Amino acid sequence: GFRCGIVGLPNVGKSTLFNALLSTMQAQAANYPFCTIEPNVGRVEVPDPRLDTLAKIAGSAKLIPTQLEFVDIAGLVRGASKGEGKGNQFLSHIREVDTILYVLRCFADDEITHVEGSVDPLRDAEVVELELILADLESLEKRVPATQKKAKAGDRDAQEVIGLMERVLKVVSDGKPARATATRDEVERKQLANMQLLTTKPVMFVCNVDEASAATGNALSAKAEAMARERGAPCVVVSAKIESEISMLPEGEKADFLAAIGLSETGLARVINAGYGLLGLVTFFTVGPKEARAWTIPSGTLAPQAAGVIHTDFERGFIRAETVGYSDFVELGGEAGAKKAGRFRLEGKEYPVQDGDVLHFRFNV
Ligand code: GDP
Repeated sequence: GFRCGIVGLPNVGKSTLFNALLSTMQAQAANYPFCTIEPNVGRVEVPDPRLDTLAKIAGSAKLIPTQLEFVDIAGLVRGASKGEGKGNQFLSHIREVDTILYVLRCFADDEITHVEGSVDPLRDAEVVELELILADLESLEKRVPATQKKAKAGDRDAQEVIGLMERVLKVVSDGKPARATATRDEVERKQLANMQLLTTKPVMFVCNVDEASAATGNALSAKAEAMARERGAPCVVVSAKIESEISMLPEGEKADFLAAIGLSETGLARVINAGYGLLGLVTFFTVGPKEARAWTIPSGTLAPQAAGVIHTDFERGFIRAETVGYSDFVELGGEAGAKKAGRFRLEGKEYPVQDGDVLHFRFNV
């Protein structure tokens, strides 16, 4: 599965957000037997109104949304990269996630201590990022000399990557994240992504605001949003406390509660969708009378590999993907209508599956 790590300083609302995510959005235990993988890891369903629309058209008996994993990663404090707090454990957890979600405290509450002594989301974001940069610096300071040595000894892999690695070290030594390294081409972009660094992972920000600002945001979250915009990172405003209250309401009362505070969907749905987008994921659908199901693949995945997400046999014996685009499926009233209108395609091995495609795989057993 794809994983988003939730990080931030202590007392910013990480656990409140994580627990609300799980109680509201937890994937159905019946479909996914391993929902709670570890105490701090949970799978949530990705809300997607397209799935409901498709199921209605096809008369599907069951809906199975796709899912995303969230990890509550505690232990980040100033000095974590040097082993302060639970520094090492923290770093190993963060290495395992695909994207990082920074929770920034944007609520004032004298009862709740701030480890840095005051509420300041921009400073907090810097403290957190600096720890990740320092961890990358330490790792590169070991790896660069070792790789230089190998390159001199004639190791091809080392020779190919050392130039870039030295440039990354320079960027990180200047206190900047590794993702700020200028890359020359696609090959270098791949090499950079494969260096197992923390500051190449895509990031998003979640501003945790006071209850009264759940729909509007506040002055602190506005500052954080401006910072995120400058970096080109997604930013979502939520009130973790409100979300946790919503998560405890009976299903039928949630919509009214949201409307009463001026929201059209939960903050959690926005967090999940932003995380999904940040991962560069796209969704395809399989639709039939038994079930309508959403599946997740990285953008650019070819049809056989997309088939392999459903079953390895589908990939091995792949022949063709019967394909109808989402809007064609909806506008033409399903597969039969799409066929009549000439909007039904047979795609082969080189077809990159598009977001929203409704697919049916033909394969040899
Ligand atoms: P973590 O250490 O980042 O995981 O933070 P927690 O989720 O444990 O929250 C720390 C404290 O802040 C708890 O007492 C929460 O109830 C409280 N808290 C979290 N979000 C909010 C909020 O939006 N407003 C207020 N007033 N308190 C909050």
